[in-house]
Amino acid sequence: MSSVLQIKNLETVLHTEPRPVWAVDGLTLQIMKGETFALLGESGCGKSITALSIMRLLPEAGEIVGGSVCLGGEDLLLLPEAAMRNVRGKRIGMIFQEPMLSLNPVMTVAQQIGEVLQRHFDLRGPAAEKRIVEILDQVGIPDAARRMNEYPFQFSGGMKQRMMIAMALAGEPELLIADEPTTALDVTIQAQVLELMRSLQQQKGMAILLITHDLGVASEMAHRVGVMYAGEIVETASREAFFRGPAHPYSRKLLAALPGRDRRKQGHRLDAIRGNVPSLSREFVGCRFADRCDQAWELCHQVAPGWTALTGEQQVRCHLFNQNFGSKIVKPAVSA
Ligand code: SF4
Ligand code: MG
Repeated sequence: MSSVLQIKNLETVLHTEPRPVWAVDGLTLQIMKGETFALLGESGCGKSITALSIMRLLPEAGEIVGGSVCLGGEDLLLLPEAAMRNVRGKRIGMIFQEPMLSLNPVMTVAQQIGEVLQRHFDLRGPAAEKRIVEILDQVGIPDAARRMNEYPFQFSGGMKQRMMIAMALAGEPELLIADEPTTALDVTIQAQVLELMRSLQQQKGMAILLITHDLGVASEMAHRVGVMYAGEIVETASREAFFRGPAHPYSRKLLAALPGRDRRKQGHRLDAIRGNVPSLSREFVGCRFADRCDQAWELCHQVAPGWTALTGEQQVRCHLFNQNFGSKIVKPAVSA
């Protein structure tokens, strides 16, 4: 399998008053062709800023100050803005929680998808129309030939979400970034949209970066998961390893906060943990989770933990697993 997205040591700062916020602080991850990587964590951990950094669509106060974001070997951070515009929509598609952010209310569906087809494939006229109907069919919008001439407001919430997916897929992207793609939808529509994303991935082999705070969605969709806390990833694992035995105390709290049998049910949110994500405006000393961790000891407040590989498919950033500090440590069972 070849790697589609490779992020190394990404650092994104938001220049806020009174002090800047390190929203993404040294993030490294890789997503392979045909793979879905779910980035998990509470609100305010830096998941969405990570997505916007990849697309180079940060709010005005945002600035990428370090690292690289390679798509198929090319560092997007080094591209001129004009070249980046061709990457967006063509090589990377993006869907958000709120479809109206990416749909233009005064353009018909055909005009909007048509724009993507013209810009990226120089397709227009009847050839473009044929392709638009195909794409709308693919995302399950019935009666596509007629409905493509309607405006976004004429569609229901679930249909708008499908239209946004249609727009994101029109450019046949290598990478789809989906930020809470189904959070605003009811459970039935949610299941349909997820199924749609999965089947399109199987057909096209695209990589998906799925950002969610819903463990049910992650367990259903992801091949691998990464848990993000306070601007950095603290654990990565295959889906199986993660749901069998999350290792990092934060990951374990996320899962333990859910009733066992319903763990994989949709709609469970990752916000049931005592305390808050720390402010990212201060200089951290030690582990960022220390103030909320039941297992913290002095070392945790003094030294930031490095990575430890538990197995080939599970890595964790926590002193509990670092054998160099061995004698001090009672190694915990890794089941939740
Ligand atoms: Fe808890 Fe220490 Fe591990 Fe941080 S390094 S998660 S404080 S045990
Ligand atoms: Mg978010």
